[in-house]
Amino acid sequence: MPIFDDIVGHERQKRILTGAFARRRVPSTYLFTGEAGIGKRSLAIEFGRLLNCLSPVKGEDGPDACGVCSHCERIRKEVHPDFRMVTPEDGMIRIEQVRELIEFLSFKPLEATYKIIVIDEAERMNPAASNAFLKTLEEPPEGSVIILVTSLPDQLLDTVRSRCFQVRFTPLSRRETERVLERIGIEGARKRERLAMLLQGCPGRVLAEEDQAGVTEDEILAHLLPPGRPVRWKDRSEMEEWLRKFILMIRDVAVSGTGIEREDILMNRKVGRLKDERNSLIPLERALGLYEEATGLLNDLRYNINHLIAGNYLTYLLRECYGDTC
Ligand SMILES: [Zn+2]
Repeated sequence: MPIFDDIVGHERQKRILTGAFARRRVPSTYLFTGEAGIGKRSLAIEFGRLLNCLSPVKGEDGPDACGVCSHCERIRKEVHPDFRMVTPEDGMIRIEQVRELIEFLSFKPLEATYKIIVIDEAERMNPAASNAFLKTLEEPPEGSVIILVTSLPDQLLDTVRSRCFQVRFTPLSRRETERVLERIGIEGARKRERLAMLLQGCPGRVLAEEDQAGVTEDEILAHLLPPGRPVRWKDRSEMEEWLRKFILMIRDVAVSGTGIEREDILMNRKVGRLKDERNSLIPLERALGLYEEATGLLNDLRYNINHLIAGNYLTYLLRECYGDTC
């Protein structure tokens, strides 16, 4: 079965990729940007399959991978010898991982046409790793394609960003999100509708595991729950980190308000516990409102709004979210 056609939405991005493949002018370094959970990583893998497919087929908008040949199959399982998926280890992509990639690229493809590397959460490359990778990004060995995937492109070094061909992803529509939820097995149209509302075009968030890096939920709560400790963020990125984690927490509060069983999605434990103990969380509509306010604040942070104002606002949102239950 053709696989690009099988991906819901992102039509423009798919055309950019299949177009490059059809013209045989595939840039060797890509940067996929867009919100977390939007589908960047999935499309990166599918693009890898298309590049190395043994018998590409004709899809709706251009060439497509067959999805069944041995290359397609092994890249999907991430066990192909010419394919590497790199993810942060303990919250960071380290120089050792990058060195291993450079070594991997130094040999010609073993079986396929291209050697492909997908680096997920590329913003987590630490400075040493980024610097070690610069030369490779500038002149990747022939026959290699490197795809950096990130929801925080601003956190990449300029020198890294400028070497890549950027493909920007935008959130899916509500309908498209519902279709993705159906595919991953969330049953019930009403349930999917309400979930789609929360996911704001990024269905992958439903599968996202709790982010282990950075501030923990417990630390956030320790500052907020009585007696509470004042929060002092050292810089914008720390505040952003708090806010991102908080957005996930509200999402869970809101989801639990929809009556969706906990097994359906990976909810954070704390929310489940609060719910069990108090059996009352803030109403769904309020949670949705807070969710929107928090995502709005996150966008504002990108424009360098005053730290103090943003900090006070974030504290207010956090207290609103948990205040009623504690
Ligand atoms: Zn194939």
